[in-house]
Amino acid sequence: MNYRYFNSTTMNKSIFLPTINKVPQQQTIENPEHDIIYKNKNQKTFNFHNAIFTSEFNSGNMINCEKLCEDTFRIQIAYDCEGIDLDRKIAIYRVWFYFGVKCFNNQELNIIISNLNNHLRLYNAGYQFVYRELEANQEPKDFENSYVLNEEYKWKRFEDFTYELGEDHRLKLKIKYRFPRRKYVLFAFCFPWSYDKNNAFLNYINNTINDESKISNIYFHNEILIYSKEKRNVNLLTITSKENVISYQLEPNLIGLFPTKNRCCKSLHDKPIIVISARVHPGETPGTHMMNGIIKFLTDENNEYAELLRKNFVFKIIPIINVDGVSSGNFRLDNSGLNLNRCYINPEIKKDPEIYAIKKLFLFYSNHFKVRYYFDLHADINVKGAYTFGNALEYFENHVENVLFGFIFHLQSSHINWKRCIYSENCMKTKFKGDNNSKEATSRVHFFKKTGLIHTYTLESSYYKGDFEGNDEKENDEIYQIFDFENTGRDCLISILLYEELVTNDKINNSPYNNIYGCREFIAGNLQLNEERFNLDYGLKRVAKEINQRKFWMSLKEINDKYILGRENRNNLKKMSLMALPKINKKLDSVRGFNPNSINNSIIKSNNLINSMQNPNVTSYNNRENFIYKNNIRNQVNFGLTRRKNLNPISQSVYKTNNN
Ligand SMILES: [Zn+2]
Repeated sequence: MNYRYFNSTTMNKSIFLPTINKVPQQQTIENPEHDIIYKNKNQKTFNFHNAIFTSEFNSGNMINCEKLCEDTFRIQIAYDCEGIDLDRKIAIYRVWFYFGVKCFNNQELNIIISNLNNHLRLYNAGYQFVYRELEANQEPKDFENSYVLNEEYKWKRFEDFTYELGEDHRLKLKIKYRFPRRKYVLFAFCFPWSYDKNNAFLNYINNTINDESKISNIYFHNEILIYSKEKRNVNLLTITSKENVISYQLEPNLIGLFPTKNRCCKSLHDKPIIVISARVHPGETPGTHMMNGIIKFLTDENNEYAELLRKNFVFKIIPIINVDGVSSGNFRLDNSGLNLNRCYINPEIKKDPEIYAIKKLFLFYSNHFKVRYYFDLHADINVKGAYTFGNALEYFENHVENVLFGFIFHLQSSHINWKRCIYSENCMKTKFKGDNNSKEATSRVHFFKKTGLIHTYTLESSYYKGDFEGNDEKENDEIYQIFDFENTGRDCLISILLYEELVTNDKINNSPYNNIYGCREFIAGNLQLNEERFNLDYGLKRVAKEINQRKFWMSLKEINDKYILGRENRNNLKKMSLMALPKINKKLDSVRGFNPNSINNSIIKSNNLINSMQNPNVTSYNNRENFIYKNNIRNQVNFGLTRRKNLNPISQSVYKTNNN
């Protein structure tokens, strides 16, 4: 893509719209009748003389159970929106299962889950679903209705099962388990987090933070943003420091939103806002656990980093978007068959109220306040590790900042796989084969197009493990537990502090880039090289064609080795790339008035960097003379952020140690 260049003052103006402190009060709508009706007919209970099988609880999914012999049972799960007359093309998801089994005797049972989508690749790669035992006399429904501190860590991966692809192309999982007498054992595709559980969890946090008997500096407010089509609450959390709250003034009601009579969220001083949402796709529970990591961290009263985040930002959080889909145990759709993450262009209050509300809220804050980041949390069944999707920004300097945040996040997190992170035009348009709708209608792309917000990301996590082949820095290929997802969420927040230069830590300082300036230089150099080589030179265009979008972020060395030196016509291509250099220089010179040597310098610097990564004695990268971005293009003073650089490094295993 071609970038346009412009100076930093223009950019600052474009990020931060003027602030209007007084927002007009708007009319409230009537409070609709609110009683939840479980419309889902797929949550059922089956009684046998030796066992009970049930999915009759929030997020449950098991539509049928047959007894094949005394100790063997066959289960079927429902596809999203089963029983509703939908286009066959969209009614295809049979991935999420969640059911409970209670045995009357201490008995070993064989259970076959018989009709899953063909995710053979996932299971071949070592995927393990999850299970846990409940307390004696505890019903699954009551379990989902309540929250006890740290109970989520009792879920375990189920190791001892077999699987096969049937003639019907359905995947079958065969479970053998010795059931304790009269205790429910729950089985799920991945660590569940139901709508009911989430409500109980939010109540727990609310009661802890807003306990009147103690003094807390945390402002935590939980309110109903809108009701879903089946009249469930879509919640909106506000988390910040009490210093940021205007005690005598309330936030305005927005027409159609906040259905309870009086909105009582306090107005906030002019601080940058960070909007985070999750579970637009109901089966993507790793997204929820990343979100829970974020919520738990932000409400931690004893953590200096969390305090700094609350002090400097206002967090607006939508923990579960697709509340109906989550309640029904869907994988990807809502209960009317919509993929809600393809509805952002034209949402309607009746058709997709959740999206209507989030969009309205986001645009409200963007127009009247300073929204600084937006994250939408997801999970990806096809990958290992975690990664971010970003947008391709027109202005080079903005795009560097956009990518730089993702890069910092990758340095901070042990799970982000940089090779998977994509910030291309292509990933703003691609269609998902299941639902033929383009990514232009996702929150990430649409919010960016509407507001120009630089830091707009989708954060995706694998369901099961990391994978960092060829990346020596990260060798975490262990199966993910809940705290791994939570750590990714927490590291996203730490990365904000690092990127905003509110703190520094060893992960940045001891990296080959030394500090955030070094990171920025590296990203800018890489982007220039990609941009110029791929756009100007015929030979390299062919190279670029070979490199699909996923590999856009390969290091220069890899590009050289794999696509220039490694190919049959390597000499030809190499010659062509050398011939292209003068042209690149000329173009750069005319476009930017840059020193024509800058591209050469970038190549030399990048090569030196690669060398220095292999050989720590080489320190050529420290030469800052040709540093294109020596002026920090973002002026921190404009944010009014509170700096506090000398915090102790945070323990990577904070959840691990707390919860063992
Ligand atoms: Zn998703």
